[in-house]
Amino acid sequence: MALIVHKYGGTSMGSTERIRNVAKRVAKWVRAGHQLVVVPSAMSGETNRLLGLAKELAPSTQTADYARELDMIASTGEQVSVGLLSIALMAEGMESVSYTGWQVPIRTDSSFTKARIQSIDDQRVRADLESGKVVIITGFQGVDDEGNITTLGRGGSDTSAVAVAAAMKAAECLIYTDVDGVYTTDPRIVPEARRLRTVSFEEMLEMASLGSKVLQIRSVEFAGKYRVPLRVLSSFTPWDIPLDEEAKSGTLITFEEDENMEQAIVSGIAFNRDEAKITVMGVPDKPGIAFQILGPVADANIDVDVIIQNVSHDGKTDFSFTVHRNDYPRALELLKTQVAPATGATEVLGDPKICKVSIVGIGMRSHVGIASKMFRSLSEEGINIQMITTSEIKTSVVIDEKYMELAVRALHKAFDLDQPAAAA
Ligand code: ADP
Ligand code: ASP
Ligand code: MG
Repeated sequence: MALIVHKYGGTSMGSTERIRNVAKRVAKWVRAGHQLVVVPSAMSGETNRLLGLAKELAPSTQTADYARELDMIASTGEQVSVGLLSIALMAEGMESVSYTGWQVPIRTDSSFTKARIQSIDDQRVRADLESGKVVIITGFQGVDDEGNITTLGRGGSDTSAVAVAAAMKAAECLIYTDVDGVYTTDPRIVPEARRLRTVSFEEMLEMASLGSKVLQIRSVEFAGKYRVPLRVLSSFTPWDIPLDEEAKSGTLITFEEDENMEQAIVSGIAFNRDEAKITVMGVPDKPGIAFQILGPVADANIDVDVIIQNVSHDGKTDFSFTVHRNDYPRALELLKTQVAPATGATEVLGDPKICKVSIVGIGMRSHVGIASKMFRSLSEEGINIQMITTSEIKTSVVIDEKYMELAVRALHKAFDLDQPAAAA
């Protein structure tokens, strides 16, 4: 008998029929002798609908008070899900109980809409499990020290599930979703994408941070920190497939590198459309200029991602960087009204229609020429690279948004990711 955490995403919880299927699957695991904690998301589309209602009344105002109310509203989606799933389990003859984040409690900091989990009290949950109940806990939310409801950022139910698994020292955390595992790239963009049987923790961390939304990045961080065995698998298989088969399906996130296994050089391609580019033109090329430009941006709590500074001409240079699209209007305004006058910049240009495409693979550590192969493949498609950033196991480029799908497809092919040998 083992303690297992199951997480079901929005599509998997998308209708009462699907919730019934989730209940039947969970009941199968319980009948096989396991203790189950289940962490569902809101029904698909529900979080967007709820946040949309708030925005109809007042568009985002960036204040903490406004963000607090957003969390109050958005957290209700998961509250409905846990109650429905509990009822569906009872209908299957199971004993079950549902809890919201504050009832467990799952303690977080007070960063509304992007709170971080600080601790989880496992007492209540353990007592219920011991008494034979299935425990269902809302994904995506917690409570801060003042008793305010917080949420963990979009896609945050993954993080709730892994954090609960870590706190409970669960034998495994199974992330059930609408695809049957982690693919070489988003199968919605490249139909030839292949499922990876295993993916290393480091690669998964990069893929999640670079935009693959199959797992929220913080869930991967938690899994790494607490060594939570983590598997991504489909909730759309028939619920009554043999448990042994189901338990081995999908993609396992691995922590040890298997030395016997030939590592694919590039394991996956990630992309995101969440960033925007800002260029500050004609600033004096002198020590401290990067700080003069980016200091006020950081003070405004705006994260900067890719940065480049051009060679200087006549003592002047151009400086470009990317920010999240949500922060773009604020960043542009700040640069135009404060930074440009203070630094003597000639112009501030903005471009929200960019995207970032990245190749990821731990095999890149031991191979040269991977980045140049990426650049060649993009140039053959006539795609202009605006910015480049690299690390040991990834190379990212910023390009025009309209070429995103073309770039992902071309790179997928160039690195043979559609070939069986490439996928471990
Ligand atoms: P859930 O609601 O279950 O949390 P998400 O929509 O958050 O599901 O994540 C699953 C989706 O992630 C898939 O439908 C797929 O389109 C997308 N995705 C992006 N990159 C990948 C990838 N590399 N492998 C698998 N799915 C991916
Ligand atoms: N319901 C939340 C969202 O849509 C959390 C999640 O689905 O993981 O972002
Ligand atoms: Mg998700």
